[in-house]
Amino acid sequence: MAYLELKGLNKIYPNGFHAVHDFNLEIEKGEFIVFVGSSGCGKSTTLRMIAGLEEISSGDFLINGKRANELGPRQREVAMVFQSYALYPQMTVYDNLAFSLTLQGVDEDVIEERVKKTAAILGLTDYLDRLPRALSGGQRQRVAVGRAIIRKVGIFLMDEPLSNLDAKQRVTMRSEITQIHKEIGSTTIYVTHDQTEAMTMADRIVVMKAGYIQQVGTPYELYFDPANVFVAGFIGEPPMNFVRGVVTDGCISFGEDTIDLSKKLGEKTASYEGKEIIFGFRPEAITLGESDDAYNVGGMVELTEMLGDNTNVYISSGNKRAILKVDPHDTPETDKAIVFSIPYKNVYLFDGETEEVIK
Ligand code: ADP
Ligand code: MG
Repeated sequence: MAYLELKGLNKIYPNGFHAVHDFNLEIEKGEFIVFVGSSGCGKSTTLRMIAGLEEISSGDFLINGKRANELGPRQREVAMVFQSYALYPQMTVYDNLAFSLTLQGVDEDVIEERVKKTAAILGLTDYLDRLPRALSGGQRQRVAVGRAIIRKVGIFLMDEPLSNLDAKQRVTMRSEITQIHKEIGSTTIYVTHDQTEAMTMADRIVVMKAGYIQQVGTPYELYFDPANVFVAGFIGEPPMNFVRGVVTDGCISFGEDTIDLSKKLGEKTASYEGKEIIFGFRPEAITLGESDDAYNVGGMVELTEMLGDNTNVYISSGNKRAILKVDPHDTPETDKAIVFSIPYKNVYLFDGETEEVIK
């Protein structure tokens, strides 16, 4: 039995909008789960149903095997961190951290010990006397995280907690939150629209689109084994390249080059004749020049972006476009023709109609 079970959860808002459809997921104790997807796909709605802040329209939510649909937020033993830090502006860091324990009537000396321990974990020891307005964004967010972990609840819910931080702070807080999770081990559900946050922090990722789960898996599974075009394009930066084409004599065209699908599909190729196929490959999954066991294709270099650790090369071939990630020392010249190779094993094919991966 999993610690948290979400069985066929639906959310239909009072105005009739169906925000979450048939959401099924089992979460083990101590797991770090990330819900990821574009704005409006239903991440917060699902999280709020788990928190008890939003009524579950249908389906069952179980904690430790017991139905929890009707429990209030307190009875569910959840702590939540929001995008807006929601600190008490007139209270010091110490009092902000202590507040929930004070409300519970915990002894002063126990509170002091827990505040000091939490502050130490979060690097806030020197700031306990400060008011929130005298802290940086990153420090405020740490206080917000501290307020949640000090309660020692079993379930830790975070809704885009890093969105208000600048890029550098986000990277730092990302690893800090992962570190804290390692230390305290609370079951965590973390919501973000940022695929890098999802990939770097999660034990398992739930990719959502328009209220539906697209795929659930480890970062490795989602990157190497995406279930459909949406997941394949959402995970990875720059995103996977997609080339659409109607299968003719077992091939599709990539500009002037021909992609012989039988190299990938074998005997199944015939069944796709006349149908639309989406050919996918990641920018980093190519090599420059020709090679064996690979599709060798050509293109014109339109633009290059030297980023230091690699160069993004934008190429065009007929009306097809793609981005390649290459070693900066191999950065090709713009307006020149190049050849590159995509090993068969790095190619993903998707059904043009359903957009599901073809295995
Ligand atoms: P996310 O957190 O993924 O950005 P939300 O869960 O906030 O998405 O919202 C999912 C969808 O539900 C959106 O289309 C949003 O406009 C809609 N929605 C959110 N809250 C309400 C509400 N109270 N009433 C009606 N629709 C809502
Ligand atoms: Mg949201």
